Parts: sequence; C-alpha cells; structure tokens
Amino acid sequence: MYPPRFAYEAPRSLDQAQALLAEYGDEAKVLAGGQSLVPLLKLRFAAPAMLVDINNVPDLEYHRTASDGSLRVGALCRHADLERSTLLAQFPVMASAAPLVADPVVRHRGTLVGSVCHADPQGDWSAVLLALDASIVAVGPEGRRTIPMAEFVLGPFTPALRPGEIAIEAVIPPPQHQPAGSYFKLERRVGDFATAGAAVAVEMDGSRVTRAGIALTGVGTLGTRATAAEEALTGHELTDGSIAEAADAAAESANPQSDHRGSAQFKRHVVRTFVSRALHRVLDAPAGKAA
Ligand SMILES: Cc1cc2nc3c(=O)[nH]c(=O)nc-3n(C[C@H](O)[C@H](O)[C@H](O)COP(=O)(O)OP(=O)(O)OC[C@H]3O[C@@H](n4cnc5c(N)ncnc54)[C@H](O)[C@@H]3O)c2cc1C
Repeated sequence: MYPPRFAYEAPRSLDQAQALLAEYGDEAKVLAGGQSLVPLLKLRFAAPAMLVDINNVPDLEYHRTASDGSLRVGALCRHADLERSTLLAQFPVMASAAPLVADPVVRHRGTLVGSVCHADPQGDWSAVLLALDASIVAVGPEGRRTIPMAEFVLGPFTPALRPGEIAIEAVIPPPQHQPAGSYFKLERRVGDFATAGAAVAVEMDGSRVTRAGIALTGVGTLGTRATAAEEALTGHELTDGSIAEAADAAAESANPQSDHRGSAQFKRHVVRTFVSRALHRVLDAPAGKAA
C-alpha cells in the first residue's frame, strides 16, 4: 500500500525544524529513523500533511557521558550505535537490551529517542528507560523542558509531547553505586516485538541493594513500573528470599492481555521468571562486577 500524499522537508538546523513544526502544528510529524513511522504511513494509520525529516539536523547523532556522569543519547543515535557502545558498561540493562531491539536492519536506522516517542507498549527502550529513571529533553514553541520517563507516555502511541515539540535527547542519570541488571525479552522469533519483557536495573553496595528499578514490556497498555518489586529489594540484602518476593510482586504488577502471543497467565509467568533470572544473575556475579 502507498502512503497518502504528504509534504516533506529536511531542515538543516534545529531552528528550521522547529519553525516547520510550529507552522504545521498537529499536521506535522517528525521523521527520525522511519522504522515505525513509515510502516504507519504505508498502512495509512497515520496521514500527516508534513513530514519534518530531522536526519540533516547536525549534532543529534551523539551518545556521550556528560560531566555529571549521566548518559546523553541524541535524537539521531541509532540502536546499532548503542549496541556497539562501550559507554553502556555503566548501564548494563541498556547493554543487554540494545541487541534485542528488532533486527539488525531496523537497528541501523531506528533511534532510541524515536522509539520512546513512538510509545508502543511493546517497545523495549521505554521499559529500560523507565527502570533507569531516565528523562526526555524536548524543545518547542514554549522553550526547552525535561520530562521524566514516568510521565512521558500518556497512553499507547501517545507521548507527552506538545504540538511543535521535538525530543532532542534522552538523559540517563549516573549510578551512585555498583550498577547491575539486565533486560530479558521473550520473542516468538528473532526480530519480533516482545511477548513479555522485563528490565531490571539495580545498584549494589556490597550485597545490599541501594536502588532498584524494574519495568515491564508488553504486559500493559502503558509501560509498567513494578513498584512493589522495587520496594521488596531497596535497602535490603539481595537473597534468594528477596528475589522470590520481588519476582512475585513484579508478576502481580503486570496487567497482560491474552492474545496471539500467549495467555495473560503465561505472560505473568514469563515476567516472574525474567525478574528472578535477572536478579539471580546479580546475586551470582563475582563481587564488584556488573551482571
Ligand atoms: C520489522 C520491525 C521490527 C521491530 N521490532 C521492534 C522490537 O522488537 N522492539 C522495539 O522496541 N521496536 C521495534 N521496532 C520499532 C523500531 O525500534 C523503531 O526504530 C522505533 O520504534 C522508532 O524509531 P525511529 O527512529 O525509526 O522513529 P520513526 O519511525 O522515525 O518515528 C516514530 C514516531 O516517533 C516520532 N518521533 C521520532 N523521533 C522524534 C523526535 N526526535 N521528536 C519527536 N517525535 C519523534 C515520529 O513522529 C513518529 O510518530 C520494529 C520495527 C520494525 C520495522
């Protein structure tokens, strides 16, 4: 199927991109990697009058560590850039998620920022960034603002961006203690969206958990933060008992629907297994090593 007719501009500066978005308002869409937007156009699920392609806007391809230790991921940083990055050593849950997003072809064009702006409940990065207490920086007609990931998704495919706003970067705060954790995803075949997934990001002071972030993929219409599971861990020694408690609490937080990927009961079981597996990996890691 062909997309409906649209106008197309590829501005060479952020100012020009913002001017176009201000002019077209709700009628415009930002085009980043195009890996979600182009299929939507072809299926005629989206019909913007204007596509503002930001790929010629300079200085958005970066990912770097800022002076405060936070990781900054620019709007044109591709999934594949993150997959190859050494900077993710401080953010092990991101390092384990990067190779699991889609397939190599999609990862070479698609962007992390575009992925969270798309706000697909089955998108992998949204859960990972939620678990890390990340935020999204947007610029628009009313200036620049920082939106915590916990407030960034208003509903399926509905980011908290105002008309005319462009998300320019994701900010992932630095760990205060030894970072550990991983992302697990069940997919029917390589490259598929998650049947269910779990992002587990913890910080350890010896065997004590000083911070726990747990968020789930594909088991709710919004990114699901497993708050009770986090509370079962934070401030406590990591033990077989606390892991079992957290895994049960995470499964309880999930709100899955039965569909062609599996029953709700099965998805809950997958969440429990993944949270338990990620935390046991931390428990079993040699002291001082990220797991
Ligand atoms: C075959 C296939 C398999 C896939 N499998 C997975 C998967 O397993 N897991 C997964 O998480 N994703 C998957 N995806 C989606 C993929 O990760 C996309 O790359 C990602 O969702 C969107 O990033 P993008 O840069 O391509 O955004 P685009 O497609 O360009 O844009 C997506 C949406 O976000 C908006 N947008 C993009 N960037 C900005 C910005 N900077 N500011 C404001 N709005 C913006 C666009 O207007 C559009 O509405 C898959 C895609 C395909 C085609």
